[in-house]
Amino acid sequence: MNRAAKRDESRNPRVVFIAGMGRSGSTLLDRLLGAAGGVCAVGELRWIWTLGFRENQFCGCGDRFLSCPFWMAVVAKAFPDGIPGDPAAIAARQDGLLRLKWAPFVAARALPLADARRAFREFASTRRRLYRAIAAISGAHTIVDSSKYPPYGIALRALGDFDLRTVHLVRDSRATAHSVARQRDPSREGRARYQYSRGAGIVAVNWLALNALTEAAWASRRRYLRLRYEDLAADPARHTRRVLEFAGVDGATPAPGAGGAFDLGVQHTLAGNPMRMNHGPTIVQPDLEWRTALSRRDHLVITALTWPGLLRYGYR
Ligand SMILES: [Zn+2]
Repeated sequence: MNRAAKRDESRNPRVVFIAGMGRSGSTLLDRLLGAAGGVCAVGELRWIWTLGFRENQFCGCGDRFLSCPFWMAVVAKAFPDGIPGDPAAIAARQDGLLRLKWAPFVAARALPLADARRAFREFASTRRRLYRAIAAISGAHTIVDSSKYPPYGIALRALGDFDLRTVHLVRDSRATAHSVARQRDPSREGRARYQYSRGAGIVAVNWLALNALTEAAWASRRRYLRLRYEDLAADPARHTRRVLEFAGVDGATPAPGAGGAFDLGVQHTLAGNPMRMNHGPTIVQPDLEWRTALSRRDHLVITALTWPGLLRYGYR
């Protein structure tokens, strides 16, 4: 390897972190950004230890994680001596570090306990190794990590040596709640309705809290962009271009072809909705099922609990 290539490999790639609440349409944004030149979208990298190493779930390419050539090449490059211990234990330490109560300490890089400081060092080292290996294997200079959970993004920012851009993806709280209900395990069909009715309030409170936390952590800073799922789905080319410009990416922007379908290619994404595995031409359209499927009661409960956010983000 020549010296220029070596220098390039030691440089950290740019990271676009998609922040917000789950079920906000980040799979669509992942796919659109991942189809742009010079960009590699890896889905929710937060879950690599559990959904990847432990459960060997499907990658967006259709292979299982441990059989996916892309991920195995990334892992071999990132951890030439093997991963640093049992994946379940690493995941547990990471979850401990990313608890809400630690977020201010992580942000200030002033963790009071030795265990938490160790967990942060491990988080920092594994993220750096993974991002650099992803850039080297994919050839991309920009990585999209749609882990969404704000404390994860706060910890990424605390690494301090990445050009981190945060896209705050917002979706109507009632659509998010409906999407949460819809993803219930079909084998528990009989209980789905009951669970949902009980859970609507909790989803609403989470929606408000996670969006408020994302704004509190980033909105006053540069390198923050807010995007509504509904706007993205209504005009994907325009809003993808907007995000790419914000991220400083000047590669080709995905554009619709014949019949308005996008060719989104194949992305090696971890976690996300089943749309990540559709590999043919894709027609993008807003998912508005909630408008007819949500009961009056749930609509009322969620609207009543989240109205300050609905107003703020321009929902009626
Ligand atoms: Zn794959």
